[in-house]
Amino acid sequence: MKENAICKACRSGKLLNREVGQVFEREGLEVKIEGIPALVCEECNQVYFSPGIGDKIANAANHLFILSEIKHTGEYRAAV
Ligand SMILES: [Zn+2]
Repeated sequence: MKENAICKACRSGKLLNREVGQVFEREGLEVKIEGIPALVCEECNQVYFSPGIGDKIANAANHLFILSEIKHTGEYRAAV
């Protein structure tokens, strides 16, 4: 990763290594993933993810949706 890359959105802000959170929604369920490594523009807060990380985030979101569905349907009560 290049240091101090310049933001493509505002063309002036520096990109900083940060961890971000993202909220995903599917069929009325919301899940949040925290601690995603990303570059964030210090000027306009545009977020850039590393190539390939999108798939990993989507996978993690899928698993969280499955957990969230189980909680909503109450099936977990039968398991404990
Ligand atoms: Zn920017």
